[in-house]
Amino acid sequence: MIKLKKNKGILIRFDDIAENMNWQLMDRCESLFEKYNIRPVVGVIPLNKDKELLSYPKRENFWKIVKGWKSKKWEIAMHGYTHIYDTNTDKKDYFSYGGKSEFFGHSIDDQVNKIKEGLKIFGNNNIKIRVFYAPNHTYDENTFKALKICGINQVIDGYGLVPYEEKNIKFIPQLFYNLISLPYGVQTTQIHLNYWNDTDYKKFEEFIKKNLNKIIDYDQALSKIDNGSYNKFLNFTVKNILKTKRLLFN
Ligand SMILES: [Zn+2]
Repeated sequence: MIKLKKNKGILIRFDDIAENMNWQLMDRCESLFEKYNIRPVVGVIPLNKDKELLSYPKRENFWKIVKGWKSKKWEIAMHGYTHIYDTNTDKKDYFSYGGKSEFFGHSIDDQVNKIKEGLKIFGNNNIKIRVFYAPNHTYDENTFKALKICGINQVIDGYGLVPYEEKNIKFIPQLFYNLISLPYGVQTTQIHLNYWNDTDYKKFEEFIKKNLNKIIDYDQALSKIDNGSYNKFLNFTVKNILKTKRLLFN
């Protein structure tokens, strides 16, 4: 228990960051992070082709903005390649989430290709990527192989209360869709700004203020990786509880 208390932390993870998005709210969040000195992880879609996301306003100089975030020590993550779902996992994906996927079910070559093309775009904009999370949390064994072939071995997703290593990949768990602060462990909050209204923003602001002393940055989350047997047991338990819950209620 002492170990878990020590390992407390909340990592702020944003999804669906692209040229077209809810910039009004993004600007508000940026000011908020500035004010409280928070360094979130932002999952950037390198070549967004998702029609739903494309319906949001576009901002010019997108990559310049991303570089600006990087210089503020925000962690720039790769969130898929085009964000187009073209397979369905039928709950056979690695985390048994189910639903549509950009990566699941594709050949290793296809997956390597998507990741490489995505990395090329970041590279052209002088942004080095070390962490990935797939759209809709959906992976198969090939996704992890492909990531490693492309030199990425860090993923923000998965079950657990403490970051862990599996298949030579460092996993920072991402458990809930809601803003939740558990008494123990490291939580990653998943933020989809595009679906927010004003009330959601205000709730987020309150959450940030209330949990300020628990909010950590990506390097701090990485430093909490623990493959000890107690944490393995704990992560295994959380995984089974949540997997069962998902299979029963989804
Ligand atoms: Zn997404």
